Amino acid sequence: MNARVIILFGAPGGGKGTQATRLSAELKLPHVSTGDLFRENLAQGTALGLRAKSFMESGKLVPDDVVLDMLFDRVARPDCKQGYLLDGFPRTLPQAAALDARLAAAKASVQVIHLKVPESVLVERLVGRRTCKQCGNIHHVKFSAPKAAGRCDKCNGELEQRRDDSPDVVTKRLATYRAETQPLEGHYKQAGILHEVDGNRPADEVFKALKQIATGVEVR
Ligand code: AMP
Repeated sequence: MNARVIILFGAPGGGKGTQATRLSAELKLPHVSTGDLFRENLAQGTALGLRAKSFMESGKLVPDDVVLDMLFDRVARPDCKQGYLLDGFPRTLPQAAALDARLAAAKASVQVIHLKVPESVLVERLVGRRTCKQCGNIHHVKFSAPKAAGRCDKCNGELEQRRDDSPDVVTKRLATYRAETQPLEGHYKQAGILHEVDGNRPADEVFKALKQIATGVEVR
């Protein structure tokens, strides 16, 4: 069977990470997040992590060649044979073109799902976001506050604010999104594979809509 690839597309703070984790478990496809891959490399102090660090901390995109090498390396691993779910990739037109070529050669089936959220909501979500240092689980100080302050509900690990979730970097990340990533919407619309989902509602409702698109079955 040909591989199936689902691209979760949208601005930072739109819920891609949270939804990708759930959808990945549901569809039994690996969740591949380029942001997570960079953060893992950074934590391990690899050359790749060091190369990405200054871009990430200033809200800019890591250069395409670096991202593409890392991503194609990851999706060549055996667990991605049946397909995978992309979160945070592609983010530029050259990245999308490189992915298109690879997926066309593999005759993969591709769906792009755009999680749409107004910009004012994105800022509030990003600045209040707290990420577990241990398992990566995401909380929010207001919308999904942990039961014990500063501790992850899943593993009791320490919650921290990502450095790039500080207000000044958030502003920069959103500007980068508008300039470099938003044009992909037109690219995928033209290809006829873009689905739009209102991401400004409770996570469970968003998940139902995603599941319906991914499985083609109406979910109640
Ligand atoms: P994320 O966790 O997806 O918000 O990614 C965090 C940061 O990693 C971004 O602000 C970028 O600096 C970098 N990054 C992640 N994915 C990409 C990508 N596809 N292209 C360029 N930079 C990326």
